[in-house]
Amino acid sequence: MARTLQTSTAWPSHPAPSLLRLTWLWSGANPDPTGLTMAHGTTPHFHNTEGLRSIEVGSKEFQCVGALPPFDHPHVFLDMGKDTEIVCPYCSTLYVFKAELGAGQAKPASAIFKAYAA
Ligand SMILES: [Zn+2]
Repeated sequence: MARTLQTSTAWPSHPAPSLLRLTWLWSGANPDPTGLTMAHGTTPHFHNTEGLRSIEVGSKEFQCVGALPPFDHPHVFLDMGKDTEIVCPYCSTLYVFKAELGAGQAKPASAIFKAYAA
């Protein structure tokens, strides 16, 4: 599906730094107006507790928490935009988009952070 330009209009209440278009999202705010991420509208969260060099994900917009709490870094919203990969500025994890995984999915599946799923 074609990605719509949403950089300036999607996050009216979040003063996003230009660097990597990252946004703080501590609450359950949903920055994804397309609703493509997960059925209940929550942005997928991924972590890299295992210290993997890269993680394949099925969503281009997600949050990286770095590791499972209490060792998580600030939950940062990452948006690949028209790219197919992005490096988390906090934990340097390389996230690679794989459309076949499906929104909210990851490979390995253990990288999916489920704490926000409830
Ligand atoms: Zn990270």
